[in-house]
Amino acid sequence: SMASPALLMRVVASAYSVAEKAATIVRNVMAGGDLGIVEKTGANDLQTKADRLVQMSICASLARKFPKVTIIGEEELPTDEVTEELIEDGHCEEILKKTCPAQYAGIKEEELVIWVDPLDGTKEYTEGLLDHVTVLIGIAYGGKAIAGVINQPYYNYEAGADAVLGRTIWGVLGIGAFGFQLTEAPAGKHIIVTTRSHSSTLVNDCISALNPDSVIRVGGAGNKIIQLIEGKASAYVFASPGCKKWDTCAPEAILHAVGGKITDMHGNSFQYNKEVKHMNSAGVLATLRNYDYYASRIPNTVKQSLVP
Ligand code: AMP
Ligand code: MG
Ligand code: MG
Repeated sequence: SMASPALLMRVVASAYSVAEKAATIVRNVMAGGDLGIVEKTGANDLQTKADRLVQMSICASLARKFPKVTIIGEEELPTDEVTEELIEDGHCEEILKKTCPAQYAGIKEEELVIWVDPLDGTKEYTEGLLDHVTVLIGIAYGGKAIAGVINQPYYNYEAGADAVLGRTIWGVLGIGAFGFQLTEAPAGKHIIVTTRSHSSTLVNDCISALNPDSVIRVGGAGNKIIQLIEGKASAYVFASPGCKKWDTCAPEAILHAVGGKITDMHGNSFQYNKEVKHMNSAGVLATLRNYDYYASRIPNTVKQSLVP
């Protein structure tokens, strides 16, 4: 008889459907009009009803199917029973048809860690910058980000009634990444994408030192990786603590699956084992191509200000 698909492929296929359910919740909460905003550490660190419901949906849905997988979500939530209407049981058939890379074919549930950012770009969500928002499900094995799903619930929301609203991007190292058109940034131009709501003197000084042709300021770590893989920007530069492992895991897997690179400002790769510190204290530097151009121009004063 046919062997059943490898665990990794079943997890990614389920995460795809779970992320689509999450996107529906994100849109429904906004349409309902009551965002239920709570400040976490301050006015630039928010949680809405969508962050809460989506995390419950993603974590409960994946835990039900894969009970021995470690799942780490951004939001601290009461451990209430999750209502059945939040559970997604489906999976993407197209993903199950792909062959699992040999080095991942034997992975067991207890060896996987899933990093969940239920709603990345919350500040922008509350301000109506809807296409900055993504849902991030990153899958790690041996401390490395090996697969990820990024859903953009409001992709195309300004493109008119004929356009399909929302999209799901997924990727696995050794297979590739799908759900978008891979595009390189204009050759010879240095276009930097960075934060719009978490700037600092150091963030801006670092960008100035790189002498860019232009700077794009948008919300969300997921959204900024999309800017790289669609050729809108040539580097994501964030010389500050603030991004966490759930912000970078899914984006990292997708970026690496298409030959890009993401590190902290010192060039250290991120680790995603379950014991790791959540904060990416030494910032984020990511590119689809020409990583060394940017890495070699980060000022030492910037590096010295960011302790890993
Ligand atoms: P941004 O580029 O500002 O949208 O940040 C990317 C991700 O990192 C988002 O999930 C932010 O919430 C998070 N983040 C970055 N800087 C901070 C900060 N200073 N405080 C809280 N969260 C932050
Ligand atoms: Mg986030
Ligand atoms: Mg979030």
